[in-house]
Amino acid sequence: MEFRDLKKQYRILKDDIDKEIAEVLASGRFIGGSKVSELEQELADYVGVKHCISCGNGTDALQLGLMAWGIGEGDAVFVPDFTFFSSGEIVAALGAAPFFVDVEEETYNMDPKSLEEGIEKVLAEGKLTPKAIVSVDLFGLPARFPEIRAIADRYGLKILEDGAQGFGGEIDGKRACSFGDIGATSFFPAKPLGCYGDGGAVFTDDDRMADLIRSFCVHGKGSMKYDNVRIGMNSRLDSIQAGILKAKLRAFEAEEVDLVNKAADVYTELLEGKVGLPVIPEGYRSSWAQYTIRLESREKRDAVQVALKEVGIPTMIYYPKPMHEQKAFVPAEGLACPVTAKLCDTVLSLPMHPYIEREEIEEVVRNILKHI
Ligand SMILES: *Cc1c(COP(=O)(O)O)cnc(C)c1O
Repeated sequence: MEFRDLKKQYRILKDDIDKEIAEVLASGRFIGGSKVSELEQELADYVGVKHCISCGNGTDALQLGLMAWGIGEGDAVFVPDFTFFSSGEIVAALGAAPFFVDVEEETYNMDPKSLEEGIEKVLAEGKLTPKAIVSVDLFGLPARFPEIRAIADRYGLKILEDGAQGFGGEIDGKRACSFGDIGATSFFPAKPLGCYGDGGAVFTDDDRMADLIRSFCVHGKGSMKYDNVRIGMNSRLDSIQAGILKAKLRAFEAEEVDLVNKAADVYTELLEGKVGLPVIPEGYRSSWAQYTIRLESREKRDAVQVALKEVGIPTMIYYPKPMHEQKAFVPAEGLACPVTAKLCDTVLSLPMHPYIEREEIEEVVRNILKHI
């Protein structure tokens, strides 16, 4: 069994993907060009924002957001303790301080109460200036944006939506990557919308930020590429990846998000009451980058993982370590995060993708139930 079956997806979408790649090869235009600009328009329309700027990967996309706001030394940026390293790395890379706050046990996303407590702590200490919040749409589920937006407004903070795993998620019909002042996603192959290499995109409604981000990702260009007005980076999505994403976005919109939600419903139906399940709040929709369950203890979780591996079922532990314990961040700023600590010991992500069969899900569940 595959954890995320990209080979099967390619078999299903082969004609469309091959045609897109062939068009790029025939055009001789491998960087930029119409494939990239068409894709950016299609992504902006899908997300429901004015601007999409494609770039080299999701980490760059996030960092470009913070660069556009001029975040740097002396600034505090609030980041969930339970996430992928990039969410905090981009803050530290710019010389600012990631301040880690706790998450909710059942949605795995940033806990608004912990966020507010963290902001108050930073203000009380007076060492750092609170500037922004990196709210992560973990495992495909949008963060608690209504609550987080209210807090951001109260304290005058920007929201950077880390939608690397969240593309395709929704709150009340509004799509992920549109909730932050700036949103960012990743097209790493295993993400909900993935290409066949690295890729990323930044989303915003703000014209000025969009111009700045376009400059930052082309060596701080001014009126043109050889007029450089600020220090930027070189970060771009190549034309072949853009073509692949155009084909994949069509399938994503037409059926993949629906299919992966049906697969999640099957897991939920079969596992209800047996293990800790991911909770999707009222009005929310996940794009199920992961289907992640919670076992009773670390011993139980590790035993289930080994047992599944023995019968050929791959699982992953996202994430085994809280961010504030990552050596690169120590000594980290932040609150005590007991929920994150517990999750790191008990979570297990199961095989999940739009083309997983009911029989496969039944096999996974049968094997889990044997060992709990
Ligand atoms: C994958 C991921 C990123 C980084 O994306 P890359 O394209 O690998 O740079 C950032 N944040 C989260 C939450 C991710 O899962």
